[in-house]
Amino acid sequence: MAKQPPKIEDIRLVWIGSVPYEVVYKSPILGKDDHKVLWGHIQQGEQRIEVDSLLPPEMKRIVLMHEIIHGLLTHAGLTDHLEEIPERLAYQLDNLFITNPDLLTLWMSG
Ligand SMILES: [Zn+2]
Repeated sequence: MAKQPPKIEDIRLVWIGSVPYEVVYKSPILGKDDHKVLWGHIQQGEQRIEVDSLLPPEMKRIVLMHEIIHGLLTHAGLTDHLEEIPERLAYQLDNLFITNPDLLTLWMSG
């Protein structure tokens, strides 16, 4: 039997560079400073990404991508980046991966 593709909730660990981040699905997620309700959050110091568990799977995937992009930018030394960058790139990369599955397979094959 062919291996089933993972569901979003199966993704519990993401490596950003050489740093592992635990991925947690929970609701609600509150911002640290203003306690606003968020769809997702990355806690760099705690190496944790939180994604709202009540979102539909497609949105969970995009939110996870969004938080990963925050992590990538921070690891690249861009700690003070605009929120707009992950916001725009998450949708673009999600669409790139979905519309080009062979591209992902190519990367996975090394
Ligand atoms: Zn953000």
